[in-house]
Amino acid sequence: MDVCVLAVDVGGTKMAAGLVDGAGRVAGFARVATPSGPDAEALWRALAGLLDEVAGDAEITGVGVGCGGPMVWPAGEVSPLNIPSWRGFPLRARLAGRYPGLPVRLHNDAICVAVGEHWRGAGRGHRNVLGMVVSTGVGGGLILDDRLIDGGTGNAGHIGHVVVDPDGPPCVCGGRGCLEAVARGPGLVAWAQDQGWRTGESVTGVDLAADAVADDPVARAAMDRAGRALGVAIASAAHLCDLDVVTIGGGLAQTGALLFDPLEQALRAHARMAFADRVRVVPAALGQQAGLVGAAALVLHPAHYWRGDG
Ligand SMILES: [Zn+2]
Repeated sequence: MDVCVLAVDVGGTKMAAGLVDGAGRVAGFARVATPSGPDAEALWRALAGLLDEVAGDAEITGVGVGCGGPMVWPAGEVSPLNIPSWRGFPLRARLAGRYPGLPVRLHNDAICVAVGEHWRGAGRGHRNVLGMVVSTGVGGGLILDDRLIDGGTGNAGHIGHVVVDPDGPPCVCGGRGCLEAVARGPGLVAWAQDQGWRTGESVTGVDLAADAVADDPVARAAMDRAGRALGVAIASAAHLCDLDVVTIGGGLAQTGALLFDPLEQALRAHARMAFADRVRVVPAALGQQAGLVGAAALVLHPAHYWRGDG
């Protein structure tokens, strides 16, 4: 390997790491379950163990990290919504202490996915890309004029909290009718169970997607509902940002046309200005490793993806 970035993806259920080379190839991929207990240090030790296992005796040139938000950025003090034991945890500083002299760069996990898709995936070759993840939550990252947009506090690209229905369901953010409230896996499951789909069972968005593929009418209607909400939000984003391409990854994207057909219908109904209607929506290309590839790009291509340190 010419260059070798230790890339890390910290999520509520899993932590993953790998070594990424200059072409975006991932080697030595490994992952562990995220400890769910209240002990912040136990979680840190589990992460450190994973990194030791993956790094081995490779010569590391930097560390790139994607982590669930919110966070104080670029300081990298993280308080992931789905990792209650980390509140204001100084993840970037801890890693910098562990890898002295090396660049350590950290961003929101959905932003890393968007960066990965822009650098090596379905957004490659396009200057204006919105990269989205639709699964337990709905996240995104925004690349305009070939540069990652951070915004005032590193939080630009939060398309999950664009409002698609002001009278819609309550959202974890405290608002109402956000895209995430409608289209996230658990939101769709709740909606489908209200309509009589597998009521009373303990089921997830993965079950819902599988039933939609198997032609269950309520599950299909749920995908339709998610697709329409996504189309409405993407139409707004396309008008605001003059986008070339939107990439969609995450579990729900696996349902293919069941999600993308209603999405396209709603998008074309609402993207009426010619410049917005030119946007193309495509499935993400990098799968589960997109976040690692993007985290590495923070280190490898700062001219495009890192402005965190002034
Ligand atoms: Zn919200």
